[in-house]
Amino acid sequence: MNTRESSRLFENAKTLIPGGVNSPVRACASVGAAPVFMQSGDGPFLVSADGDRYIDYVGSWGPLILGHRHPSVLAALSSAMERGISFGAPTETESMLAALVRKTVPSMEMVRMVNSGTEAAMSAVRLARGATGRDVIIKFDGCYHGHADSLLVAAGSGVATLGIPGSPGVPRALAEMTLSLPYNGVAEFKEAMASLGARVACVILEPVAGNMGVVVPSRDFLDTLVELTAKHGALLIFDEVMTGFRVAPGGAQELFGITPDLTCLGKIIGGGLPVGAYGGRRALMEQIAPAGPVYQAGTLSGNPLAMAAGAATLREVTQPGFHARLEETGKRLGEGLAKAAKDAGKACCVNRAGSMLTLFFTPGPVRNFSEAKTSDTKLFAAFWRAMAERGVYLPPSQFEALFVSAAHGASEVDAAVEAAREALAEV
Ligand SMILES: *Cc1c(COP(=O)(O)O)cnc(C)c1O
Repeated sequence: MNTRESSRLFENAKTLIPGGVNSPVRACASVGAAPVFMQSGDGPFLVSADGDRYIDYVGSWGPLILGHRHPSVLAALSSAMERGISFGAPTETESMLAALVRKTVPSMEMVRMVNSGTEAAMSAVRLARGATGRDVIIKFDGCYHGHADSLLVAAGSGVATLGIPGSPGVPRALAEMTLSLPYNGVAEFKEAMASLGARVACVILEPVAGNMGVVVPSRDFLDTLVELTAKHGALLIFDEVMTGFRVAPGGAQELFGITPDLTCLGKIIGGGLPVGAYGGRRALMEQIAPAGPVYQAGTLSGNPLAMAAGAATLREVTQPGFHARLEETGKRLGEGLAKAAKDAGKACCVNRAGSMLTLFFTPGPVRNFSEAKTSDTKLFAAFWRAMAERGVYLPPSQFEALFVSAAHGASEVDAAVEAAREALAEV
């Protein structure tokens, strides 16, 4: 593949934008490549600025569960656009999307719309601190909850990819109020709650982790979180920015039958536009301004275009059978990749929850971030490049989830598996 035009665009971008990108992992540094600049998308495909077609397994990092340019989303957007782009005043569409969310995720009795997953998690933590009058928060290593100061401790996603423990610019005093524990670490969590329980405002987690690569929680881990947060009066926050509407219509909380105190949403809820949301019990949510004293606001929050794209997307994903089909596609891909790696004699472990999965180059099991980090990231980098050469666009990091969308059919999956067979023979 000739990526000359992408290279030219990247060189120019680097003179204008830090690192040439507006979000770090996109730079593709950890896979030893330059980013491919994209020009258009259609269904499961992307077309690059170089004119190459890729099967897209990034899906804009999660939002595009319907694939690119889904007709219902485009129609909703153009009809909203005709009425105006932003009013800075309430519109009926906001309540319509909130009602759709509540119907699908019943624990979210009230919903506040924001503009990103970062804002959703940051605001949920502020509410938890405001409501409990406590400062300490517990998170888990390798989970990513956006880049708000309190949550950028032992974080996943780009922080994991770059291999940094935290970030300069986060005040030590704030970082000290965040305790990060091993994911699935039941004993460590019990110990922490026994000593700190009365000071803990909230426990926040990705109920299926995706930002250290996909890691599934054990039943015991989830049950312990529910039991001990209730016992100590701390709030349990499910950050479902990635899992919401993806692992089941009602997210991981539906899958596991758990009612968290607060839930964060993002990605799919905006259908590809910048949206986030947080919500929970009415009594808790009514502590948010202007109903209550905990302040949170947004100039473009509830933007009509974003609400329209989100609502159109949610209507599609809540159709009967939608997730059963996605599960089939995800299973076909997961099993195909695992078999291809095995046949090539590569140690690997595929973790999957429905349509999100990661092929870790380690024998496994991968149950937490330290086990994820035993992966052969050099091998992953070579694999990524060999897949890109073959027109398969994967997330450019070992520590990210790969997504299939409703637009991916058996032929796209089989093409990716065939490409993986060739790529694995070569690397
Ligand atoms: C992507 C993600 C975020 C951050 O969302 P942004 O829209 O990138 O700010 C937060 N939490 C989880 C679980 C995510 O996957």
